[in-house]
Amino acid sequence: MSGAAGGPPRAAPIVVIGGGIAGLAAAWELTGGERPDPGAPRVVLLEAGPRLGGPLDSAPIDGTVVDLGPDGFLGRRPEAAALCHEVGVGELLRPIGASGASLYSRGRLRALPTGLVLGVPTRWWPVARSGILGPLGSARLLRDALLPLPDRRGPLGDRALGPLVARRQGRAVVEALVDPLVGGIHAGSVADMSAAAVMPQLLAVPRRGGLMRALRRNTAAAAPAEPDAPAFWALVGGMRSLVGALEARLVERGVELRTGTPASALGRDGEEWALEIPGGRLAAQAVVLAVPAGAAGALLEPHDANAAVLERSIEYGSVSVVTMAFRDELGLPGGTGFLVPRHTRSPLATDRDPDLLITAGTFLDRKWPHLAEPGRTLVRVSAGRFGDRRAEEMGDDELVERVAGGLAVVLGTAARPTERMVTRWPNAFPQYKVGHLLRVNGIEAAVKRLPALAVAGAAYRGVGVPACIASGRAAARSVLEALGAGAGPP
Ligand SMILES: Cc1cc2nc3c(=O)[nH]c(=O)nc-3n(C[C@H](O)[C@H](O)[C@H](O)COP(=O)(O)OP(=O)(O)OC[C@H]3O[C@@H](n4cnc5c(N)ncnc54)[C@H](O)[C@@H]3O)c2cc1C
Repeated sequence: MSGAAGGPPRAAPIVVIGGGIAGLAAAWELTGGERPDPGAPRVVLLEAGPRLGGPLDSAPIDGTVVDLGPDGFLGRRPEAAALCHEVGVGELLRPIGASGASLYSRGRLRALPTGLVLGVPTRWWPVARSGILGPLGSARLLRDALLPLPDRRGPLGDRALGPLVARRQGRAVVEALVDPLVGGIHAGSVADMSAAAVMPQLLAVPRRGGLMRALRRNTAAAAPAEPDAPAFWALVGGMRSLVGALEARLVERGVELRTGTPASALGRDGEEWALEIPGGRLAAQAVVLAVPAGAAGALLEPHDANAAVLERSIEYGSVSVVTMAFRDELGLPGGTGFLVPRHTRSPLATDRDPDLLITAGTFLDRKWPHLAEPGRTLVRVSAGRFGDRRAEEMGDDELVERVAGGLAVVLGTAARPTERMVTRWPNAFPQYKVGHLLRVNGIEAAVKRLPALAVAGAAYRGVGVPACIASGRAAARSVLEALGAGAGPP
């Protein structure tokens, strides 16, 4: 507790640990959210790194600012667009400018069929016509319509997403469609990914009967929260526009934003939390932990060993991103980009390294027309996922060479980029493995027993920017409620 000499002691602040989008959203909510609260408690945000925003970062290539991490966010969830409006960058929102994408399958790019729900087909004919599955895979999928197999799952409980879909629609569907789409979003594998956490609708459909038919019904019945919103939004100036505006508004509200300040330990001192930070200790009346799961585990260890174990059991995948500018004609297919299934053999293969390194490509200026400039094409390619560390272990030069080679294979072009930019995102994607929600429920229950403390961020209930914003704001409300309920100091 600190106080001016002779004056009344100043209440300890609420401390947000972690300055990614979840932590920033928590600080925003703590200070009143949409309506600034002049009576709001003092808030300090600690960020270990040199800047705020986590993967929400942007930088110029060939004179145009592009995103290095997320380049857009889902429109049918309202949280991210709402926050943009609240912090004053609503007029910078731009809707996605193209739809559809391709998949590199059986030697060439093929348009993804319509009627997929996170890669799971809801109609047979568009998938069969796409040629992605080949005749055997298409025939196996047809069985889901004509002679469906029941699930092997009990009425409750989680299942691995891949095997669940494979049993009903065949392995080819999982390898060619579900793993590239869902695995791509999470930089993981659907072989052991939690259906309950990632695609709960799969567990909600009847165990018997066709999966395609059940998902069709389910999709028709589920109305999006924002039915008229574009599928995705981006921001002029990139995601930095949102982070920069949040930063400025939070400072205006008196929030102390301390970068380069890791919290290395979290203790209790009487009625308060006591944080170890470089150069000393910081008292807090409440804490929002908006850090990755490993860091949260370390900080929670002295207070709940089980929560710490659960946190540490959440593993992370790494991704490397290469953004390139081309001046030559690339002959791109339609849509926003392409996906490359795991274990796609490369014509550049060696015995040691048989598969293509790249996992996905985004045609940035097609997807986001505000980035377009005549005579230039911006392509962003991702490499690496959980279990495939090849890209992570390569130097930048080798990575660019291999990515350009992979792009040449997939697009069938010999064009060379005029500029390239490499961004590394180590341990950035939490893996929602089978049982993930049980782990999260356990962590949340443990944290609830601690005084005025909450967790937030991508580790728990959604990796997308809107979900992280929602979790940060919910964590803020939960500690405010705990303080209001007298859990904190008087
Ligand atoms: C390449 C990439 C592409 C993506 N694309 C999309 C997309 O298109 N759309 C979408 O919606 N989402 C996308 N995502 C996901 C989304 O960006 C992330 O899930 C989200 O930004 C995570 O936010 P967070 O606040 O939970 O975590 P983070 O941003 O990781 O923030 C946690 C912060 O805590 C800090 N920290 C850690 N330990 C401590 C400590 N002890 N003390 C103080 N600070 C600490 C870290 O430095 C970090 O800044 C993408 C992510 C990546 C990496």
